[in-house]
Amino acid sequence: MRIANHDNRAGLVIGNADAEQVIDIDTASGGRFGPRIDDLYPRWVEFTAWAAALETGHRTSRAVDRALLGAPSPSPRQVFAVGLNYHEHAAESGFASPDSLPPVFTKYVSSFSGPDTTVAIPDGGAVDWEVELVVVIGRTTTAVTEDRAWNHVAGLTVGQDISERITQTRGPAPQFGLGKSFPGFSPQGPWLVTPDELPDRDDLELGCAVDGAEMQKGRTRDLIFPVARLIAELSRNVTLYPGDVIFTGTPAGIGAGREPQRFLAPGEHLDSWITGIGELHQTFVSDTQGLSS
Ligand code: ZN
Repeated sequence: MRIANHDNRAGLVIGNADAEQVIDIDTASGGRFGPRIDDLYPRWVEFTAWAAALETGHRTSRAVDRALLGAPSPSPRQVFAVGLNYHEHAAESGFASPDSLPPVFTKYVSSFSGPDTTVAIPDGGAVDWEVELVVVIGRTTTAVTEDRAWNHVAGLTVGQDISERITQTRGPAPQFGLGKSFPGFSPQGPWLVTPDELPDRDDLELGCAVDGAEMQKGRTRDLIFPVARLIAELSRNVTLYPGDVIFTGTPAGIGAGREPQRFLAPGEHLDSWITGIGELHQTFVSDTQGLSS
């Protein structure tokens, strides 16, 4: 099933591409689940059992308005992001592929947004793209084994780990969290897709394009630490909570890895996708165009 954060309310998505409808979960459940999507994650097993039995034919639905979509988990307790998790991307970044857990950092929640947005380029910034598979956790997880880890996943969505490389790399040690958390730097969506919806949850094609020119194209089967292993490793160190978000890493093709390097300019459009999940659309503007004023 597909679950959206639509107009700040949890919605079950039905219908085919470009004609999606959303059923309000709070209304359809008589107030049992929702109204917000965050309310679902702590009761994910119970919620999905109810939703699977819902007879959609008799329910009131409305057309999805993409402008009203928010991040599928808009206020997680924890956000994890993983660096260097594809061999070719590690190489283009000038690093050996990790043989133990790759670098783990965070993207601050204030940078979260829905799938279709306008993003300001920080003054003088070198803003780069990183399409990523994003995992949302569906139950409290401590030291789960790899073979059971997928049972702890609520669903998957498309994410962009937009990165300002100057902030990220200056100073005595990398400044990942701040460089990757300017406003609007973590678009996600268009909705959460449960793993059972996908023909192979461990082999999804993902990519992105700038003004229609393909920049990244990869497959999640090439993750050095695939989803189950990441969850197992992270949960040996920290407890994962329902609604927690994991950016799993980006494949090759980032702007900083190109010769010459290529960063986003005002007026450019970034389209990102994962087959079977959906798309993100970002338009970039200069900081002086005053998004926040
Ligand atoms: Zn990343």
